[in-house]
Amino acid sequence: MQKSIYRFIDWFIPPAIRETESDRLMTRTFVLLHLLGPVMGHSVTYFLWQASAGAVWQFWATEAIVVSFLAIPLLLRFGGSLRLAAMVSVQVLVGLSLFGSFFFGGISSPLLPWFLIAMVLGFFYLADSIKVTLAGVALQLICFVTARIAFGDFPDLLATDSLKLANTFSILAALAYMTMLCLYYETVMRISLSLEQETIDQRGRLELLREAMETAELASKRKSIFLAKMSHELRTPLNAVIGYAEILRENFEDQPNASRKMQDLDRIHAAGRHLLALVTDVIDLSSIEANRVELSTQPVVLKSLIDEVIATASPLVSKRDNRMVVNMPEDLGTLDLDALKVRQSLLNLLSNAAKFTTKGTIMLTVLRRPSDRGDRLMLEVTDNGIGISPEGLRRIFETFGQAENDTVSRFGGTGLGLALTKRFCQMMGGTIEVRSERGVGTSFTMEIPMIAGRGAGDKPVPQAA
Ligand code: ADP
Repeated sequence: MQKSIYRFIDWFIPPAIRETESDRLMTRTFVLLHLLGPVMGHSVTYFLWQASAGAVWQFWATEAIVVSFLAIPLLLRFGGSLRLAAMVSVQVLVGLSLFGSFFFGGISSPLLPWFLIAMVLGFFYLADSIKVTLAGVALQLICFVTARIAFGDFPDLLATDSLKLANTFSILAALAYMTMLCLYYETVMRISLSLEQETIDQRGRLELLREAMETAELASKRKSIFLAKMSHELRTPLNAVIGYAEILRENFEDQPNASRKMQDLDRIHAAGRHLLALVTDVIDLSSIEANRVELSTQPVVLKSLIDEVIATASPLVSKRDNRMVVNMPEDLGTLDLDALKVRQSLLNLLSNAAKFTTKGTIMLTVLRRPSDRGDRLMLEVTDNGIGISPEGLRRIFETFGQAENDTVSRFGGTGLGLALTKRFCQMMGGTIEVRSERGVGTSFTMEIPMIAGRGAGDKPVPQAA
């Protein structure tokens, strides 16, 4: 029942006014008051009918104005503005009470209390247009006073002895109307206050978040400074350890019965290199996260860069009896690239392929691929090694993420290489994708947007077939 009443009332309310809880409640009250108002107003017109000198035109005019209030909710619905509807309502109610008072009882008229209701309505709904509202009311009061002066007295349509009862009923109806208005006003105020409180709380939470952000940013900055310092402090002695291990090993090479010592030195050397790689990767990743790494593009002769990476990776490839196949057009031209990042990314992929493949084939394909976002340089490394499980594929690009739990014990590594490679690709505006099947092999594809180099003698980069 309540729902259908609300649905009926809401039909008069344009959707734009229904957005906030307090607006909706205020407009619902407005509609309800204008549906009930004319009904209550009839208690007065009934008495006028009974007590006045029959059906004079002034009676019918008063009756018509009372009924016209039913059109105000329609004005709201089709006019789309609560302010317009409220303005019309206030002025019509003032007009009704002054017109009715003039003809039916003057300043003792049962219609005069409705003047007060009109004013309360005006303050409630038209607080921000109060001057215009008061101007309309003042104009009507001037007409009332002028008419009174012009006629010399109020027309005597109502017997004075009937006024007492009519006034009592009118005041009771006005009181009921006012009570409803006050009750709804109280609810609206409560909602507004709770909204205000919510806003204050929200502001407090935002302030706390801002402070937390500042603290986190400060901590991150300190972390970066700490890492930058550690980079120097760790790398220098580590390079010394690796260097001395190499020198000692060379010295022992000529000595008989030194194979045990050489084995130990090899272990020191390998552990030192592992630690150095780990430190370097951690520092690179932290620098990217602290936004301390910038792209440094310059014209690069692509073939020289790729040849250089292949030369570096070759010993790793042959270490496990793998062979490398390179599909690369002879003349790749010059491109604007961050050579360091491309080199490190490609080397990561090649060394991974070499590490996870035994007696297999590692294939490097380089080509230019046209796409709807412009030409892209594609670098693909495919192997027929151990492959990666679907769960592993979800982990491998994460920091310290390795495909299997036993990867470290079987193959070593840090789980940082691919995380770094992915960050580098993203920095260059590119992507990296992987396809793999356990026991069959793995294929990593990097795509980097191509910008033709500005260097002299540029040659176009060969297109993919
Ligand atoms: P790392 O090789 O140092 O462990 P990466 O981030 O380079 O770290 O690689 C993450 C993991 O991805 C590896 O530990 C391995 O499990 C898996 N992976 C990467 N490349 C290959 C590949 N070519 N074949 C099989 N597994 C691979």
